[in-house]
Amino acid sequence: MSVKIRKGDEVEIISGKDLGARARVLEVNPKKGRVLVEGINQVTRHEPLRMSKGRGGTEGGIIHKEASIDISNVALICPTHGPTRAGYQIEGDGSKTRVCTKCGTEL
Ligand SMILES: [Zn+2]
Repeated sequence: MSVKIRKGDEVEIISGKDLGARARVLEVNPKKGRVLVEGINQVTRHEPLRMSKGRGGTEGGIIHKEASIDISNVALICPTHGPTRAGYQIEGDGSKTRVCTKCGTEL
């Protein structure tokens, strides 16, 4: 299976608790078939509290961080009709253009 989603793409979540959300891809792991999407699948980590000098306050505490999700749970967004499957179209010079498989719009 070839991975057509790239870092920086805007994708829509098509499965899970963040269904319907749109966000940017931060990282792609083609070997594991996982993607990290900005603000999606956030996990909460409790960091140890540290005393900050001079301000009398504390730093640390609860940190929200994204966890990767399966690449099959996200879809590229076609400007014409929303979440879609992407394919490649081979140009005359041999280069590949990523397109929507439904309508051929370049993605
Ligand atoms: Zn389309």
